[in-house]
Amino acid sequence: MDFSNYDLDYDAIVIGAGIAGMYQLYKLREQGLRVRVFERGTGVGGTWYWNRYPGARFDSESYSYGYSFSQEVLDEWDWSERFASQPEILRYLQYVADKFDLRKDIQFSSDVKSAVYDEETRSWEIGLGDGNTYKSRFLITGIGILSQPVLPKIEGIESFKGQSFHTARWPHSPVDFADKRVAVIGTGATGVQTIQEVAKNVGHLAVFQLRPEWCAPLHNSKIEPDEMKVIRAGYDEMFEHCAKTTAAFIHDVDPRGAFEVTDKERYEFWEQLYASPGFGIWQGNFKDILTNPKANKAISDFIAARIRERVNDSLVAEKLIPKDHGFGTKRVPLETRYYESYNQENVELVDISETPIVRITENGVLTTEREFEFDFIIYATGFDAVFGSFSRIDIRGVNGRSLKQQWEEELATFLGIQTNGFPNMFMIMGPHAMAGNNPRSIEYQVNWVTETITYMDDRGMTRAEATLEAQEGWHDYVLEQGKDLLRNEVDSWQTGININLEGRQTRITLMYAGGQPSYRRRCEEVARNGYKELNLR
Ligand code: NAP
Repeated sequence: MDFSNYDLDYDAIVIGAGIAGMYQLYKLREQGLRVRVFERGTGVGGTWYWNRYPGARFDSESYSYGYSFSQEVLDEWDWSERFASQPEILRYLQYVADKFDLRKDIQFSSDVKSAVYDEETRSWEIGLGDGNTYKSRFLITGIGILSQPVLPKIEGIESFKGQSFHTARWPHSPVDFADKRVAVIGTGATGVQTIQEVAKNVGHLAVFQLRPEWCAPLHNSKIEPDEMKVIRAGYDEMFEHCAKTTAAFIHDVDPRGAFEVTDKERYEFWEQLYASPGFGIWQGNFKDILTNPKANKAISDFIAARIRERVNDSLVAEKLIPKDHGFGTKRVPLETRYYESYNQENVELVDISETPIVRITENGVLTTEREFEFDFIIYATGFDAVFGSFSRIDIRGVNGRSLKQQWEEELATFLGIQTNGFPNMFMIMGPHAMAGNNPRSIEYQVNWVTETITYMDDRGMTRAEATLEAQEGWHDYVLEQGKDLLRNEVDSWQTGININLEGRQTRITLMYAGGQPSYRRRCEEVARNGYKELNLR
């Protein structure tokens, strides 16, 4: 049967105009496909469009995070800081959108509500919030892994008379906290960035902390024009390097074990990492700190000692030191004078593991100890990671099968890119894909998907669906690769836990953690062997 005769609106529909969706649009258009991107925001940028909270910035070196696909972009764009702030990142993504005239194929303020596969036409019908529907051969999701914010399950949120925001739904106009009473609830990477920034100019700041996280210094700095020239000259080498590191950062694991060196060497190495910019202390540390409990205890003790040095009040310092998990077993928040914020008279740490929040009141927050009054409450309470990005859309595959239901039974994909039962749907950064320095993984996955679609088009093929066998194989491989990681023993978004989500309190593996080189090897092998695992026809 010739499936190309059917009247489709587009060859491919992409959901999301963030880093993934923008690049996917560029690539497929380059191949001559008719592409439409639906984006729920009013502009491009995805994560960097939504997360406008004070202090939002990269934790990856700016130049390692930007797109690598265009020499012109690399030549033209100057990063002003080693770890750029959200406004600069958004300007960068807007510049890329302008440069390649991407907006003409992006429909903004368009919330995709449903996606239904039709076997008869081998196509997808996408339904928007405004009731319109569109048909396309391929559906590609670029919806992020941390895009569905979660408010805390605390009574009375609606009753608060002041202003309140989730960090990922920040207003577009600046918010002035000078002389105001502000609460921040949540102390993950987002909370940490927010707290240290708000603390700079606030009347009074109260931080409601459930469980502290292990933070390490960011050591941000300006990039002077001369330094930018050096960075630019080294782009090729740097991207090549990132393609080989475990998690696509410029930092890579030290091949030594923590106890293969003397105590003095170990201490000096950690001092040096603690004094260096970025994720080196997490991603460039001894090879066993994230797998060997003894090595992990040693680095945790090292970081705890730094926290004690930096926080004046020893009781507050103890509260800021995690006791329930080791360093690096959650994604490490990077900070700038975060700990010193607690030395300010006007910054207060409220340990809600001791005095839980009872409810939000019209004036502020009531704990078991007292009522706090606020002008603003900031919820930095995280996301329904990975799952939530997908489950908010009613995605139906073969025979009306629900993706949400399928994944509730077992979270399984092939390469994090395809799922059995959902033909012609490709995911950029789907569950069990390689995460880390995400744009590096995104570019890789977009290229792979584009090559797959081009391969199909060249051969008149109209259907791609990961086989159950391939999917099961990948599922088992993902679990096997991650089995020694201490992070599997910790509740965090990486293990699918957010305490506010009903009915999902069992830890699972959300993303592939076996390292980038092996991920890429597997993807390349599939392509080389003619995509047998996708049962193309
Ligand atoms: P998160 O890591 O999930 O942290 C959420 C925080 O809210 C935790 O401290 C959590 O406490 C707390 N919380 C949740 N529900 C609560 C409740 N009902 N009452 C009190 N506290 C509550 O979320 P996130 O900080 O937004 O970070 C998520 C991820 O986004 C990061 O790990 C990172 O991958 C990414 N991110 C990246 C950047 C960057 O690249 N620059 C910046 C920010 C975030 P418990 O942990 O005790 O549950």
